[in-house]
Amino acid sequence: MPTLAERDYAVLWHPYTQMQTAPLPVPIVRGEGSWLIAEDGTRYLDGISSWWVNLHGHAHPHIAERVSEQLRTLEHVLFAGFTHPTAVELAEQLLALLPANQARVFYSDNGSTAVEVALKMVLQYFHNLGQPERRTFLCFQNSYHGDTFGAMAVSSRGAFTQPFWPLLFDVEFLDVPVPGQEQEVLSQLDALLARPDVAGFIFEPLVLGTAGMVMYTPEVLDELVRRCHQHGVLCIADEVMTGFGRTGPLFASELLPREQPDIMCFSKGLTGGTLAMGLTTCAAPIYAAFLSDDKMKALFHGHSYTANPVACAAALASLELTRAEACTQQRQRLAAAHAAFRQEIEGLPGIRQVRHQGTILAVEYDPGEGTSYFSRLRDAFYQLAIDNHVVLRPLGNVVYLLPPYCTTNEELELLYAVLRQMRELVLDFLPAPTLPEYLHD
Ligand SMILES: *Cc1c(COP(=O)(O)O)cnc(C)c1O
Repeated sequence: MPTLAERDYAVLWHPYTQMQTAPLPVPIVRGEGSWLIAEDGTRYLDGISSWWVNLHGHAHPHIAERVSEQLRTLEHVLFAGFTHPTAVELAEQLLALLPANQARVFYSDNGSTAVEVALKMVLQYFHNLGQPERRTFLCFQNSYHGDTFGAMAVSSRGAFTQPFWPLLFDVEFLDVPVPGQEQEVLSQLDALLARPDVAGFIFEPLVLGTAGMVMYTPEVLDELVRRCHQHGVLCIADEVMTGFGRTGPLFASELLPREQPDIMCFSKGLTGGTLAMGLTTCAAPIYAAFLSDDKMKALFHGHSYTANPVACAAALASLELTRAEACTQQRQRLAAAHAAFRQEIEGLPGIRQVRHQGTILAVEYDPGEGTSYFSRLRDAFYQLAIDNHVVLRPLGNVVYLLPPYCTTNEELELLYAVLRQMRELVLDFLPAPTLPEYLHD
């Protein structure tokens, strides 16, 4: 009898995976709180919220209840010419929580589509206003906004997208304004804003996830956005990862002292990590530019499952949990625990930098000179975590925690223990070619 993993291996093609050399996948049959339970009963602590999506724990009974109720009431209806209660309710609730200028909600399927919609809103906004020469996007080096073509175009030109580079539209990259680099990046921005063709600036607010949880301050982001606004450039906050409490407040953009983004993108935590859904919100003037007696000024974008009622019900149920005082306290507890752990290990040998924002903690290990064994180090880190029954996905020499909010102090301690062991591993690490070279993310 083949195992589940063997049957998988015979028919499936996994994301971000070199199928020839990857080990067999771990078969998970159940989830419970912060734990994933394998076919053989082994329990794995989910330290990264299953790719940054889960907020309140796996198989959460409240979300399950609301989803099954919705499934028995209305599973789906087309969203052009029709509407339904959960789509309206969710939009009303979100707009009440988002920065005050956000006025409209456009539903789609995932983070990448939320970004595609945002980019198309910006381009068609200027098209509708009779300024089609405005069509250049600004974005950060090392940014990640998704895997569809528009999203790839505004993301870092990294190795993963190299086969597609010739087909990606041109954008202008800014360095990330990490502490110490602020003035340099503001000057880069000023030079670009002198051009007449800049349409939009898309950014991951405060934390660049895939880049290795690279962090920068709300003050410098506020200044970047302010200068864009002075030049009529629309700003897109991609909150696909940061949204729904990850950075502390409900949305990272709330931390901006004065400015507000014109457009915002959400997915991942939107449904608490239960169902795929994306959404893009925008300020009133953007929406107004699509209003006309001329049908061709409409936004001709949509997906078959736009505003799926079941996904909307999951989002409403998750939002109810996220807005509860108990969730605020959980996030504060995670942030305090991360801050204490940071104090403990910052400055120790083997640690280059520790970064922390809200419920996200990133440890950048110092593997010494040379980058050639980063990928072997990454695999060694990954294996060490799995051996400790902890799910982490190191980004090179950066290992981050992004746990579900329900993660207890005892569970956090298990995660920190693994991060401590990783430091030991870095200190002992000798470049001996024993581990296979995988293709990683
Ligand atoms: C994950 C992510 C995306 C892409 O979302 P998908 O749902 O995976 O398509 C876009 N932007 C950011 C900031 C992300 O973290």
